[in-house]
Amino acid sequence: IDPPQAQTIAIPPAARPGDALDAIDTPSLILDLDAFEENLRTMQVLAERHGVALRPHAKAHKCPEIALRQIALGAAGICCQKVSEAVPFVAAGVRDILISNEVLGGAKLALLARLAKQAHMTVCADNPIAVEALSAMMVEHEASVGVLVELDIGQQRCGVQTPDEALALARLIRKLPNINFAGVQAYQGGVQHKRSLTQRQKASDKAARLIRQYLDAFAKADIECPVVSGGGTGTAAFDVASQVYTEIQAGTYAFMDTDYAGIDWGEALFFRHSLFLLGTVMSTPTSDRAIVDLGLKSTSAESGAPQLVGREGLRCVAVHDEHCILLASSRRNRPDVGTQLRLIPGHCDPTFNLHDSVVAMRGQHVEAVWPISARGLSR
Ligand code: PLP
Ligand code: MN
Repeated sequence: IDPPQAQTIAIPPAARPGDALDAIDTPSLILDLDAFEENLRTMQVLAERHGVALRPHAKAHKCPEIALRQIALGAAGICCQKVSEAVPFVAAGVRDILISNEVLGGAKLALLARLAKQAHMTVCADNPIAVEALSAMMVEHEASVGVLVELDIGQQRCGVQTPDEALALARLIRKLPNINFAGVQAYQGGVQHKRSLTQRQKASDKAARLIRQYLDAFAKADIECPVVSGGGTGTAAFDVASQVYTEIQAGTYAFMDTDYAGIDWGEALFFRHSLFLLGTVMSTPTSDRAIVDLGLKSTSAESGAPQLVGREGLRCVAVHDEHCILLASSRRNRPDVGTQLRLIPGHCDPTFNLHDSVVAMRGQHVEAVWPISARGLSR
């Protein structure tokens, strides 16, 4: 072919509004809107019943259309884990974002300052070096941000280790220009997926006791601590009841995944699967094996292989780059070539991060295709 005649071929979208499920090109990420909306309401109602704000974690979905729906239902704003991740959300009109993480380095701080001119931005800090750099950059840009002192309440990730350390940092934040001490972040990730409900309750109670020690120290020092932010899907019911949190940061609740579905939920709280991978059987080389056209580039697998929906005697036994290997217990349970399959990802956050868009379904039809605009934004 003569190069000047070669034209760029536009790849058509996987789905368009109005399409039927079986017309969607695969692999695709699909969202069942009825289940998703029910999940949003369930968590919002739970938070409101306890007088606690809901600040959903947008790292779970990285999709502004989803964040706007969470906010429309009453969420106080969103969390992002990274500064760059917040950019598409601010562009879409989200006006209150907590970066639930430590932020360090000139490029990130400069970007944060620019965001802070368009939205109310808060970041976490656990050391004076970061706080001084943050203040200096905000002064330079004539911007200001809120700061939460991050407490290590047992996750052994970031966070100050003692109330004295928290007080010293809060005093420094109050002293420095263009940054405002807004409270504390206390997130316990390690306990979110503990299988037993009572174990999660115990862990949440223990965290609440620790947080209260910090809050007592702030009160004694006459330092107002308006925000206590933390909590996730697995402990949300206990976190809101503890009355130490002013806001909870759950993310997965809107979607669920096999990782969270595997824990005991009890009767108090329940979330539906709303997020699925759609794949097509591309080969059936043996009577018990079927190969589906999605792999590690469409689904996370670090929390286990995706699980098939509505398929007895069929399971995913291996996840390759672009293939999943399905094993059937009998020929009868093996799907034929061309069969469309639905699978539940092991872990929603990294799965969303692999897709450009999510296909929002109302029943059997496509209602919308939403860009996952913050996908890949990990700086
Ligand atoms: N807050 C922070 C700081 C997190 O790191 C996470 C998840 O890892 C969450 C909230 C949300 O947790 P989940 O998706 O388990 O609800
Ligand atoms: Mn997660």
